[in-house]
Amino acid sequence: MSKLIYEKSVAGRQAIVLPKPGVPQKKLSDLLPSAFLRTVPPALPEVSELDAVRHFVKLSQLNHSIDTGFYPLGSCTMKYNPKVNDAMAALEGFRDLHPYQPEEQIQGALELLWTLQESIASVVGLPAVTLQPAAGAHGEMVGLMIIKAYFKAKGETARTKVIVPDTAHGTNPATAALAGFDVVEIPSNERGNVDIEGLKKALGPDVAGIMLTNPNTLGLFEEEITEIARLVHEAGGLLYYDGANLNAIMGLVRPGDMGFDVCHLNLHKTFSTPHGGGGPGGCAVACRATLEKFLPKPVVTRKGSRFSLDWDRPDSIGKIKGFYGNFGILVRALTYMLAHGREGLCQVSLDAILSANYLKEKLKHFYALPYKQACMHEFVLSGTRQKERGVTTNHIAKRMLDFGVHSPTVYFPLVVPEAMMIEPTETESKQTLDDFIEIMVNIDKETQTDPEKVKTAPHNTPVGKLDEALAARKPNLRWQPAK
Ligand SMILES: *Cc1c(COP(=O)(O)O)cnc(C)c1O
Repeated sequence: MSKLIYEKSVAGRQAIVLPKPGVPQKKLSDLLPSAFLRTVPPALPEVSELDAVRHFVKLSQLNHSIDTGFYPLGSCTMKYNPKVNDAMAALEGFRDLHPYQPEEQIQGALELLWTLQESIASVVGLPAVTLQPAAGAHGEMVGLMIIKAYFKAKGETARTKVIVPDTAHGTNPATAALAGFDVVEIPSNERGNVDIEGLKKALGPDVAGIMLTNPNTLGLFEEEITEIARLVHEAGGLLYYDGANLNAIMGLVRPGDMGFDVCHLNLHKTFSTPHGGGGPGGCAVACRATLEKFLPKPVVTRKGSRFSLDWDRPDSIGKIKGFYGNFGILVRALTYMLAHGREGLCQVSLDAILSANYLKEKLKHFYALPYKQACMHEFVLSGTRQKERGVTTNHIAKRMLDFGVHSPTVYFPLVVPEAMMIEPTETESKQTLDDFIEIMVNIDKETQTDPEKVKTAPHNTPVGKLDEALAARKPNLRWQPAK
């Protein structure tokens, strides 16, 4: 790694020289109590502007990002975020708004929220939408609180269980438990879909509903979805759709039409707003008209050409986020939807499915493919053949970093041993996909000719193989001067 900014410091060097002020200067000690003043100046690096710029640009390049390389992280939809989204969010009419401004001054912002609500309602086929949640797991929480409020209002308080398939994203059982439900896990069948007999056994008067992802986390479309919906509704339960990844079905099929009652969408996945690195996310929760009154308040409503924030919602589960959600993210999501239009969003899904199936068909000759049918926007390989040669999926994932590619999601879903869950997204060219295939084929060859090279990877990254337990428990996040 090149020298850090602290090591480049030269006493007296500075980035900018300010002109002498034309007014008399006050001493700091006249402005602040002496207890608040330093006695020794801070040990800051003294560098030129160029050194400072290089320092921060280099730091920004130490992490992998979608702007610097391919990022096939299954279930995360690390697609390219078009820069026009950022430009729209930075428009001063949006950027300079204050959340306490009165309604009549923020009509444009409310119209934007309302338009996004309507656009999402039409994509998912459910009429009522809130944009307050900060991220997917937060949206799941809102959805389950709505389901809970619904049964409470009906007096059906014995419905304490939520069914979750064994392939579910980890947030699903976690959310159900946090929302006060008991989690009942059901198995998937040999085709990776929900096992209908297992579902029938789990259903009953104590079940509030089921949480499903479709396509599921194996990237497979739930073939029996309408039968599943019929069975759950017949047993008096509701269906929750985890739409964190809508990238496979936008414009092709709608959760509302499949029979789902509530769903959430990660705007920071399908709708191309930034994610990774813990930045702000955005999430929409949509539900059937019968559940609308339970939505978090305030709800953005429209009367004629006037938009308002409706706080008068006595059955609402309450407020779940500061102000109205992460507004800048919502501007980006609507920009993306408008830029693509109806046909464009359909095409996104079709291209995402095509990319995934292309990779699957090419790679299945080198890596085990547990589920052979056509996939949706992602698919799961298994590193069992390579493991027989002593090389694990973990080693393969680390080796990919040497080629400037982020690793896929690994060891998930849990039902596949040595899992590699690959999601190329529609934003990558065929050339990038072909490069990735070549990298994967080469790594497979290396597991036969030079397994040590794979097992000791990465070799080219700024930081090599980490002690993962120690890195998680005692992260070293700060530069410290040599003692
Ligand atoms: C990403 C994801 C979530 C959680 O979303 P966050 O925004 O990370 O909280 C839930 N379910 C699925 C299927 C996901 O891929």
